Amino acid sequence: MKFLILLFMTTFCFAAFSGDKAEEGAYIYDFDKSIIQSLSVNQDLIIDHVTRSGFEVYGPAGLLTFLKRHNIPHVDLAKVEFFDTRNYPTPEEINSQIRSIHQKNPQITQVFLIGRSVQGREILGLKISDNVQEDELEPEFKYISSMHGDEITGRELMVRLADDLVSGYGADQRITQLVDNTEIYIIPSMNPDGSAMRRRGNANNIDLNRNFPDFSTSDNQNILGNRQVETKLIMEFQKSRNFALSANFHGGAAVMNYAWDTIRDRHPLHDLLVELSLDYANRVDYIKNSDEFPNGITNGYAWYEVNGGMQDWSYYWHNDLQFTVELSIPKWPTYSQIPYYYEKNKDALIAFIENIHRGAGVKYKEFINGQNIAENLNGTVDLYKIESGSKNKIGTFPFFRGEFYKVLPHGEYHFEMNLGGGDQARFVMAVDGSLNNYAIMERNR
Ligand SMILES: [Zn+2]
Repeated sequence: MKFLILLFMTTFCFAAFSGDKAEEGAYIYDFDKSIIQSLSVNQDLIIDHVTRSGFEVYGPAGLLTFLKRHNIPHVDLAKVEFFDTRNYPTPEEINSQIRSIHQKNPQITQVFLIGRSVQGREILGLKISDNVQEDELEPEFKYISSMHGDEITGRELMVRLADDLVSGYGADQRITQLVDNTEIYIIPSMNPDGSAMRRRGNANNIDLNRNFPDFSTSDNQNILGNRQVETKLIMEFQKSRNFALSANFHGGAAVMNYAWDTIRDRHPLHDLLVELSLDYANRVDYIKNSDEFPNGITNGYAWYEVNGGMQDWSYYWHNDLQFTVELSIPKWPTYSQIPYYYEKNKDALIAFIENIHRGAGVKYKEFINGQNIAENLNGTVDLYKIESGSKNKIGTFPFFRGEFYKVLPHGEYHFEMNLGGGDQARFVMAVDGSLNNYAIMERNR
């Protein structure tokens, strides 16, 4: 196998950091896992959706020729992937659907333009909350789908979920309470060009889920740099908010995937991640009963390593606990199957948002001469869990614009806020699932 590895090293050396090109894709049957071992060392290749029978591999142009030349049995994904596009909305129609949902109840919805894709398509978000025009003191939640353009199920589910949250407001008690106490952001289509072309990458054929900063590689600065425009837009958007919990939706498997993706180490909140993953999977029978993944959940790295993924970036730099939900084994099911997937996932999708209220936060109101200047207040929080009388540090986290909120396991927590200039505030809060669990701090100068 060493010979094979060497050849790969010399054949693909285009990527600056780690591979994010998805110009060609293949499915490789690999029952004894011998081929994946030799291919996964190559930094220019993207391994995806590993199962007992094989895996997908993506890479720069030349990948297929290479596989052929080295007699690695494979199937060209461009030739076999079947997209039954009948009845599916276009990206433009998805955006009209988002705008009509807003029209149904403009009191609790706001459409905003995240930005435009490489080909100029609008990437829209929908905010759903009571007093939607205000930035209220409520935890901020986010759903993003279809960063892989050909993984379409999530886009459709997001539109249906948004519609149900808006229609259910005032009629359904569970939904009303959720909308009243949470700022929910839904971005159904992060990669509209890819979806228009029914392919994984964006218009430049870059895999957006390998295009984010990654703390474990040489691309370890949280800067825009020369990333894809869709990646930059999400990075800028994330920076403008205080998201605490989120999920991003994919297809090609049925499993709830939790961090980390990029390193083998246990995540500092591992037990909570497993608990939230099980909570999602248990509500969706075809995920729970998966024959590939015990209980329908998996750690990302244990499945396959992902460098430059959105999930790890989101927590590592922004304290936004993100999960990756693989919604359907067919990436692009027949349109008539979409209601089936939505009905199966609807309760889990709502319950997952509700989980953001397992947390605690703080909001500063800082007055100078009677004027609130907390918008400019940034600092760090040292957070400790109090367990049988002793303090165990969970970590140090940034807080922005005078606001911090974090999803945590139930228990008691000690907050040490470092406000700059040597100013500190210390207090204890309990996490018990109560709604809008914030400490309000006022400073007058
Ligand atoms: Zn995907």
